[in-house]
Formats: sequence, structure tokens, C-alpha cells
Amino acid sequence: MKINKQELLQFADQCVKCGQCLAVCPTYNLYQNEAESPRGRISLIQGLMHGHLDSTDKTTLLHLDHCLYCGNCESACPSGVNYIKLLDRSKQLYPVNAIASWQLDLLTNKKLFTPGRAASRFLPQRLKNHVPAIFQQALSLSTPKVKPVTYKAASATSDRKKIGIFTGCIGHQIDSKAINLTARLLDYCGLEAVIPRTQSCCGAIYQHEGHSDKAERLLQKNQQVFYHEDVEKVIFFASGCGTWLKQGDFSMPVIEATRFIASLDEVARFRASIEGKIAIHRPCSLDSSGKGWDIMLQLIQAIAGEQLVELPGNDSCCGSAGLHFLKHPQAARQLLAPKLQSLMDIAPRKLLTANTGCTLHFYNGIEERGLDIEVMHPAEWVSGLLLQGKDLSR
Ligand code: SF4
Ligand code: SF4
Repeated sequence: MKINKQELLQFADQCVKCGQCLAVCPTYNLYQNEAESPRGRISLIQGLMHGHLDSTDKTTLLHLDHCLYCGNCESACPSGVNYIKLLDRSKQLYPVNAIASWQLDLLTNKKLFTPGRAASRFLPQRLKNHVPAIFQQALSLSTPKVKPVTYKAASATSDRKKIGIFTGCIGHQIDSKAINLTARLLDYCGLEAVIPRTQSCCGAIYQHEGHSDKAERLLQKNQQVFYHEDVEKVIFFASGCGTWLKQGDFSMPVIEATRFIASLDEVARFRASIEGKIAIHRPCSLDSSGKGWDIMLQLIQAIAGEQLVELPGNDSCCGSAGLHFLKHPQAARQLLAPKLQSLMDIAPRKLLTANTGCTLHFYNGIEERGLDIEVMHPAEWVSGLLLQGKDLSR
């Protein structure tokens, strides 16, 4: 996509520098530095575009790179500044510290790379030192033990309604339990789950790293894949992917998996007796309108009752934020720390979160602190409960 500098400046000039966004910005609160605030970043972009700032100065550009894309500033802004679009497009002009497209190809390649893959143990130390920092960080992560996703093309003969499942790149590993269980739940409810093998990464991380053309191509590829499978709806598990997919031109509705599950008759009637507290974390990217979150919360509340606890600080990013936790692990840890403290205080049996990056980030923080808390997707929790003891051959 060609960048229109004039349009970008118009976006930036909408900011009246009132500062109402500062209090809700996690990076401003963390660094206590104006340059780490939405207002500061907008001023930096204006300075760069007018040529008042050096566009090769890494310190300046790192302030842009630290942004979590949480969108809190947009919600708080009385002037309606389109901050996320402004930052995304500015990064295409000033891509310092951006991860190269070929590195993202590797990171998102389901066959070649998975974070925390045991293969890192077999990599000689002298080679490890030459691996780009982002891979070193990804390989240092712990990941839950899961079974692979069971891919499934649409049946040519079945007249059941087809529901497409978007797995994502890292999500096909981290969310695989949620994906497989949800597919079984759909089957139990008389629907046909379709999980095309040819789908690819959604493209969101390419977009945030300034590779807009590649991001668009991936979006279009996924649109084609689900179009050819003739599905009625596409459901996704990673809210970060969902935000980007929803900007595409899919010929069918694209909705969050738990939200879709909540609409099933079998689920609406379902109640269970829950032992132990269930904590729930709200990913920043979960439906900017807030509706997806409300429906998810109502469903979990209806099942868990008083055992459900909303994690304190749910209005602030956990630090995962796309590639942020791999690019800036120290800041990501600091942002996660108060949430881990809350988990220690609440001592839930499970933590539910609907974004792959958040799952991975919490999983590692919980493991580092030695806490006995299982991290899972809300769709996995609901599907698992509902299918317990059910005859799945019906
Ligand atoms: S709230 Fe909006 S207008 Fe005010 S400083 Fe922040 S971005 Fe600018
Ligand atoms: S998107 Fe989040 S981290 Fe980035 S400037 Fe806005 S509030 Fe701050």
C-alpha cells in the first residue's frame, strides 16, 4: 500500500495534545517518559515527517517500536485520533528495529519453526550466538505440551452447516487443544468444522512490522481459502489475528470462537459445578467494540458463577502485544508482573485468555514463578466441560 504522507500528517494533526490518553497508556506508565506516550509518539511522527528529527536515530524510532498497539489511547481520545493506523503507516516509512520479512516468514512457518521448540537443545552454542535475537528469545520460551491440530477439508456430501476454523501460525500449536475441542463441540452440535490445511498466518505481525504488502497478501490468501471451502462463518481463537482478519474482505462473518460457541443452543442451556476459582484475562485486541468481551464474560460467568474472577488490571496490556514480548522481553516482564502478583493472591486453578501471545506470555510467567495455574483459551474450557462424558459418536 502506497503511503500518503499528507494523509498521515492529517491523522497526526487531529491530536490537540490534551494529554487525556496519557493515564491509560501502559508504556507511559512504565517508562514515565513523554516519548513513550501516545501524544509523545504522535509528536515524534510529526517531527520525523517535517524533517525536524533525524529519521535514522534509533532512540527516537525505538519509542515508536515500544508501543503495544493496545488501543487504550484511541478509546480515551476526545479528538478521535486514529492512532493505530497512524503508527502502522509511519512504521512503513521508518522501519528501524522492524523484523525483516524473511525472519517473519520463518517465525510464522508451521513446518519450520515453533517457539520453544525442543530442537533448540540440539543447536550448538556457537550457532545459537549467531541466531537473530528474536529467534533466541522465541526458542527460550516454554510451551504447553499439545497435540497437533487435526486439519479437515469440507465434506462434499454433508449438508451440515460448515464453520471454518482459522488456526493462525503459532496458534496452530499453542491453541491446538482449544481448536481440536471446539471442532468436536461443533460436530456434537450438528455442525461441520472445517480446518483448511492451506490457510496461513493472518498477516498482522507483518502489518505491525511495516510489511504492509505482505500482510495484505496473506489476508487475501486466507479469504480465498475459506471462500473455496464454502463455509458460513469463520471463527478465530487469537484475538490479535481476529483484529486483522476483520479488516479484510471476507465473504462470510468472521467472529471470535467463544462468541460463536455462546450462540449455540447446547451451550446456552449448559450449567456446571465448578471447583476452584477461574480467573479471566482480557486481551487488548479482543473486539475493540467491547462486545466480544462482554459475550465471553457472560458465558463464562453463567457457567462458573461466583468462581469467576476478572483479573485486576484487565484494562492494561500484559506486555505480550504481538512481537513485543519477543523484541522487548524486559519491558514485557515488567508489564506482566502485577498480573502475576494478582494471580498469586487469587490462586485460581485456571487462567482463561483468548489470545495466543498472551497465553504464551502468561504461561512462561506462571512457570517462572512456580505457580500451579493452567492457562487455557475460554473456548477450550467451555468445550471441554460440555463434552465431558458425552457420546461423541452421535
Ligand atoms: S487524547 Fe487524543 S488528542 Fe489528546 S493527546 Fe492523546 S491522542 Fe492527542
Ligand atoms: S496503543 Fe497502547 S501502548 Fe501504544 S500509545 Fe496507545 S495506549 Fe500507549
